Amino acid sequence: MALPGNQLLSLTADPMVKRFVVGVLAVLPATAFAQDAGPFPPPKTRPPIISPGKTSADPPSDAIVLFDGKSLSHWRSSDGTPAKWQVRDGYVEVAAGTGDIMTTEAYGDSQLHIEWATPAVPKGEGQERGNSGVFLMGQYEIQVLDSYNNETYYHGQAGSVYKQYAPLVNASRKPGEWQSYDIIFKAPKFDEQGKVTERARVTVIHNGVLIQNNVEIYGITYHDRPALYIAHPLQEPLRLQDHGNPVRYRNIWIRRL
Ligand code: MG
Repeated sequence: MALPGNQLLSLTADPMVKRFVVGVLAVLPATAFAQDAGPFPPPKTRPPIISPGKTSADPPSDAIVLFDGKSLSHWRSSDGTPAKWQVRDGYVEVAAGTGDIMTTEAYGDSQLHIEWATPAVPKGEGQERGNSGVFLMGQYEIQVLDSYNNETYYHGQAGSVYKQYAPLVNASRKPGEWQSYDIIFKAPKFDEQGKVTERARVTVIHNGVLIQNNVEIYGITYHDRPALYIAHPLQEPLRLQDHGNPVRYRNIWIRRL
């Protein structure tokens, strides 16, 4: 426990120690003891009471269930027509060539849980193997890829903020096995002129392992040019990528923060 300097002084009678403590105090800035201050004022509002799921993969009572294994009613195609991906046996599979799907509602600051599996029989190499993606606000991609024994550029492997940040570790499971992302996202803010004033931030937990630790996103995650921000509203639909590979998703829920 840290003691204020005067208490330290009273704890010892040794003149050598006293001289040392006084010397140390003389060179420390006044703020050195600011850490002793407690929270002030205490919060007045009581945190809402919610019911968590049985496991951390289950939606808590305040989550919006975006996909429950049965229906794509919360989703549509990018062109506004009904989503055409294939729903069966509790999951939805990318139907190659039908395009990305987006949520019908818009989301900003949020906590997202999403489970995915790449094809059990791996096909293709690098970016062509089990590629899809979770596009936060439709703009910022957390890469979905079969990264189990599959080399590619590090900021393009599973769990990367595409072309911006490699994951801290590769926590990938084998092809065909279900994997999870738990994503905590802070939306960017823009001023009246459309200039970004606060960049987006994201934390990603892959299969229970922290792989992105509150990183600052540089902008839209393009594959062929540097990232940049283009002003958009505080809430935008979530988008899942059709990259031509039959990647599966299940158990998708989101909490507004
Ligand atoms: Mg992708």
